[in-house]
Amino acid sequence: MGLDNNQKTKTSKNIVSSTLLYYIFLAGMFIIGVYFLYDATLAYNAGDVEGAGFSSILGIVGIGMSIYMLTMLRKRISTKKIPKKVVTTIECKKCSLKKIRPFMTGDYVLKNIENCVKCDEPMLITGIYTEKLVKS
Ligand SMILES: [Zn+2]
Repeated sequence: MGLDNNQKTKTSKNIVSSTLLYYIFLAGMFIIGVYFLYDATLAYNAGDVEGAGFSSILGIVGIGMSIYMLTMLRKRISTKKIPKKVVTTIECKKCSLKKIRPFMTGDYVLKNIENCVKCDEPMLITGIYTEKLVKS
């Protein structure tokens, strides 16, 4: 339970540095994969077919895993980069003046808030919704 809390309080700075570490890890894995492939060709040239097969499998797995994890990471970042923007629509009952502003804590539909700038009547929250940023 304590662990769960820690993960929730992670700052964006932490996410960036952990992403960087992840990239370094992936790069290392990719290099190891390339190294194993290189090792496989050396072993093959030396007549060690069994060793060559083993090394090439390790190499392919290493490169494949790093590419796979990179695409997974890309997906994770792209979903994170689209913040859900919550907006509140406000309407004046009298003159039907409409306003849209970012959601604030305590907002709820049909709540009376600030007075209308036009007729000084209390305005009403008519909707709260997430603004979907263009992504199809
Ligand atoms: Zn009004």
